[in-house]
Amino acid sequence: MPQHFLLSSAARSLTLGSVARMSDGEAEAVFVRLRWADNKGEAYCPHCGCTTVYMARRPNGAPRWRCKACRKDFSVTSGTLFAFHKMPLRSYLMAIAIFANEVKGKSMLALSRDLGTQYKTAFVLAHKMREAMSAEVRSVNTLGGEGREAEVDGGYFGGYVKPANLRENRVDRRLRRNQNGKRKVVVVIRERDGRTLPGVFRNEIDAAAFIRRKVAVGTEIHADEAGSWNELHARYTMHRINHSEAYSLDGACSNWAESFFSRMRRGEIGHHHHIAGPYLVRFAQEAAFREDHRRDPNGSQVDRIAALAMANKPSVDFCGYWQRSRAA
Ligand SMILES: [Zn+2]
Repeated sequence: MPQHFLLSSAARSLTLGSVARMSDGEAEAVFVRLRWADNKGEAYCPHCGCTTVYMARRPNGAPRWRCKACRKDFSVTSGTLFAFHKMPLRSYLMAIAIFANEVKGKSMLALSRDLGTQYKTAFVLAHKMREAMSAEVRSVNTLGGEGREAEVDGGYFGGYVKPANLRENRVDRRLRRNQNGKRKVVVVIRERDGRTLPGVFRNEIDAAAFIRRKVAVGTEIHADEAGSWNELHARYTMHRINHSEAYSLDGACSNWAESFFSRMRRGEIGHHHHIAGPYLVRFAQEAAFREDHRRDPNGSQVDRIAALAMANKPSVDFCGYWQRSRAA
């Protein structure tokens, strides 16, 4: 039997030790290479695009460049997701390596211990890494096409209602009136041998328009027996599988989609405990990225996340997050 890829040495192309042994200059060179990959790793001005720039290090050794054309200064992280960073760049590379090595997700408290930072710092950093990963997931315009197969499924997250201590005070938590309204459904479209695209909705029926927009006509869709997928029959060739009878029957099976939820659910139970509210979609996108890159060597996953962070604008959600919440 051939060896599973993840057990092979090719899957381990980067070690934490090698990142820890890097000097700040070497870590900085990694970000420079990834940020300006379209210019052979040579810095150019993010303000005007001029390629004639002068290196002018600050007194503390932090690299700066000055543009000849517009005279503006910039650093390797200016205008990116890691703009205004406080920690040395090596710590960012270390954080990305730790984050990429996890397969279901990374507890933000554990990350704060690994990096020796406050929880708040690790929290914001983890969310910025999720934002970087989500940029790739969000770039998917349409999935499938003629002769292609995709799977659709939904999974519920959030809105946990704790049962009362005394039995006589407990309520039936299945009834809508006893729920807190925070429960949302993550609906995933997963193309077989292709990409994974999740979305967050109030219920599965609301996801139909999202599926019609994202799945190309001609795609064969596999889904379970839930009535919410019935209206897709009008547009696509559907294969339905009744999970109370079998997981795979007559060529119908939604195991690719189930695999995504298996990963996301284990991240919820084992690392994050509560994933709900406005950032639920980010956790779903993180799980989709991990699913799509599950068989990439860890070094290329780190490169990919760092490159996405360098290509992203400063975070709308998390730039100055704690400063804002303190002022509020
Ligand atoms: Zn310039």
